[in-house]
Amino acid sequence: MTAKYQLYTKKNMHKKKLIDSHGRVIHKLRVQITDACNFRCFYCMPQQAQFTPSQELLSYSEIIDICSNLVDFGIDEMRVSGGEPTLRKDFCDIIRGLSKLPVERLGVTTNGFFLKDILPELKDSKCQHINVSLDSLDQDTFRKITKTEYFDKAFKSIVMAKKMDFHVKVNIVILRGINDHELFDFIKFSAQYGVEVRFLELMKIGPYHKNHSQLFVPAQELIERIEDKELLEPQSVNCDSTSFNFHTSSGAKIGFIASESQPFCGFCSRLRLTATGKLRACIMSEAGMNLRGVNKELYPEILQSVLGMKPTDRIDHIKQPMYQIGG
Ligand code: SAM
Ligand code: SF4
Repeated sequence: MTAKYQLYTKKNMHKKKLIDSHGRVIHKLRVQITDACNFRCFYCMPQQAQFTPSQELLSYSEIIDICSNLVDFGIDEMRVSGGEPTLRKDFCDIIRGLSKLPVERLGVTTNGFFLKDILPELKDSKCQHINVSLDSLDQDTFRKITKTEYFDKAFKSIVMAKKMDFHVKVNIVILRGINDHELFDFIKFSAQYGVEVRFLELMKIGPYHKNHSQLFVPAQELIERIEDKELLEPQSVNCDSTSFNFHTSSGAKIGFIASESQPFCGFCSRLRLTATGKLRACIMSEAGMNLRGVNKELYPEILQSVLGMKPTDRIDHIKQPMYQIGG
């Protein structure tokens, strides 16, 4: 099965487009800029996590060069992630550099710890889509999940980002017996602050790839619980959206990312660049090819190979934890 490039006309410009052999248009890139993190969310990383030494991470200019090349081949949306991306001292430089690329959307996924202080810099950049992971609205549960005391910092960052008119989404991994009782607290929070909340199914990735069922809550169960109390109005989304979204009768905006129970691999539009320069085809597979130090002339061949690695059927699990993949 081979991938191909296709020229298309968009806003009177000729641009390359990445299409795989199953007709999926690949236009999004997840950019992991570090695997280090100051939180220890128990489902994401072990307490004694090993991080890549900073001198081995892609440098600022390597990130910008690789991303710029990928934009020339059809990437038009990027989301910077980690580990915790804001831990990098040159995080704002990277965002400013990526902002100069002709992408339609630039976003970041963060635990919110450093976010409040850098919001003014982000406001002057193209990075207007901020996803903050906040698995609990309760200090004790937050501590139990993240092994940190940083609830206030994360919460205040979200409120401030919303005040500053960023597109803010709060991501919650729902864990049975741990935070699933907070479903309606998050719905209230969304209605009160006007922030979209998205409930993520725990994926069979990393520490819980085996004992997944003990914590797993399917999105459908959450929807049924909500429907007992509220009306849900479905919202339209792009066909490659990872979430399905609703407005609730109480004024909340909610979404569900049902990666396990309703996988969306058939519509996947994403590639992943790891913090050391590997271009990966899929979150569930370590398969990929190195782009670090690679001449742009070789990109077509590499892209063709990597697109050929994209599975259509869901791979069941991966032992590698999310902080190393770039969530
Ligand atoms: N540190 C940043 C953060 O927490 O937002 C960015 C990286 S983190 C790996 C990205 C997202 O992956 C977070 O929302 C986190 O909750 C999610 N995640 C980590 N492990 C997961 C798993 N096994 N299943 C589902 N989501 C997971
Ligand atoms: Fe860190 Fe994000 Fe993983 Fe939590 S989910 S440990 S914040 S990388």
